[in-house]
Amino acid sequence: MYKVWIDAGHGGKDPGAVANGIQEKDIALKVSLDIKKRLEAQYEDVQVLLSRSTDIFLELKDRTNKANAAGADILVSIHCNAGGGKGGFESFRYTSASQNSIKLQDALHRSIMAKLGGIDRGQKAQNLHMVRESKMPAVLTENLFVDVIADADRLNLASVINAIIDGHVQGVATYLGLTKKKKEDKPVTLRDINVVSAWAEASWEEVTANGYFDGKRPGETITREEAAVVMNRLRKNFLKLIADVDGDIKELDERLQEIEGKKRTYQS
Ligand SMILES: [Zn+2]
Repeated sequence: MYKVWIDAGHGGKDPGAVANGIQEKDIALKVSLDIKKRLEAQYEDVQVLLSRSTDIFLELKDRTNKANAAGADILVSIHCNAGGGKGGFESFRYTSASQNSIKLQDALHRSIMAKLGGIDRGQKAQNLHMVRESKMPAVLTENLFVDVIADADRLNLASVINAIIDGHVQGVATYLGLTKKKKEDKPVTLRDINVVSAWAEASWEEVTANGYFDGKRPGETITREEAAVVMNRLRKNFLKLIADVDGDIKELDERLQEIEGKKRTYQS
């Protein structure tokens, strides 16, 4: 079971970059939660652990301490960029990153760019806390610029957020060599309506022999009018039975009608 640590940047009192009505912390959280959902739903043997799953503030050292203590196999820190310019996507590894960190960056950067499109600002190395203090291969992604109008417009599109999420999911899966879950092909076993279920066999035989049902299509659904016919057969037989034991059938019918709250003439 692989452990993937997804770190949603910023949170709580630290909104990260804010511009054009977008807060970096919100995009980071949404993307992170959905990466977890999709990775675990689509791939076998992978567990996604999160620095935060709500809008709370965390110090950087708390994030890397938790990921290191959990023994995560990889760490990906999710951010949005700011600083103007033309916008686009870029990713960061540590300045003296391990070979595996570089491989992880390769896999993530490629798959995110493939899904996201637009300006590729490149695979970069920088002395950032999240990639320096993580003991496992670690990459930080900067997913478009909140202060570049064209990027902000894109970040407001569900399709673009989806591309960012899927790009991360695909990149992690490629790096770890995850196996896709087989779709559960539930065999469609349509019942034969002409064959009575084992549990109903005895009753079906009896009601057929007694003339309430015709013995055909035991598995078919019943209509209201069919139910009415059966109920009425049963009702009349009960009246006859009681009349045989105790007096006049019309009188019994009238008494039953009183109980039923309706009046009509008995028809045999
Ligand atoms: Zn950030």
